[in-house]
Amino acid sequence: MSQVIYDLHSHSRCSDGFLTPTDLVKRASEKNVSVLALTDHDTCAGVVEAQQAALELDQPLQVVAGAEFSCQWLGRGIHIVGLNLDLDSDILQQAEKVQQQRRVERCGLIAAKLDKLGIPGSLEGAKRLASGGSVGRPHFAQYLLEQNRVSSIAQAFKKYLGSGKPGDVKALWPEIEEVVAWIVESGGQAVIAHPDKYKLTRTKLRLLADQFSAVGGAGMEVVSGHQAPGLAENLAQVANQYQLLASCGSDFHQPNQPWQELGRFSAMPAGIEPIWQSWH
Ligand code: MN
Ligand code: MN
Ligand code: MN
Repeated sequence: MSQVIYDLHSHSRCSDGFLTPTDLVKRASEKNVSVLALTDHDTCAGVVEAQQAALELDQPLQVVAGAEFSCQWLGRGIHIVGLNLDLDSDILQQAEKVQQQRRVERCGLIAAKLDKLGIPGSLEGAKRLASGGSVGRPHFAQYLLEQNRVSSIAQAFKKYLGSGKPGDVKALWPEIEEVVAWIVESGGQAVIAHPDKYKLTRTKLRLLADQFSAVGGAGMEVVSGHQAPGLAENLAQVANQYQLLASCGSDFHQPNQPWQELGRFSAMPAGIEPIWQSWH
């Protein structure tokens, strides 16, 4: 019997991923993923196409309806993945609309900040690079690269767009409990995405897990793409302490990024309760 691979965090062209939902599902299948959550930023727009594409595959693959919501906690930008969302939920549809409006507003503010730094035209540039998809920071990063303002995407975030940098705008996002409420009221489970990315101290991470759990959060990504040895065990400890179920995912955005490849991440550590245990 082959092992069932759950990849519960991935992106398509409906947000900042490079593949269509159909191509994403095909690639996931090639990588032997059995259960794939499509978790585009603040939208479920690709889920129906992905589920349709899964029906055409030779080997079974289940697509979980998800989204990765941006929010804030203690003034920091945090990402919360919603899994098993009811696509017909009014609350979900309203939430997607509100978040998209905030994205548009935020892009305007980022562009204004870059403009002040002597970098004009970034909104138009980012829109062009998004080619019709929703515009986000990666497109601003691409624009900065294109304009030779930086030498890499990573540098664009380090110099301009990352947390605390001159082009960083996060005040628009809702508080974490609001996002958890949207997810729960849409029939889903809320999961803290890539907890290691926020550069929290261990004390702050525990506080986040505690408060998230208290407002109805269900889980935490214990494994997110390629990560340092020992991290999963540490995160599992925190998850267990605050009654959070363990999730795992690649956070796949595009091919040629082997550290975020579909289905490719280390196994869950021992002693955790996987989030999918209650799904059947
Ligand atoms: Mn992304
Ligand atoms: Mn994220
Ligand atoms: Mn993501």
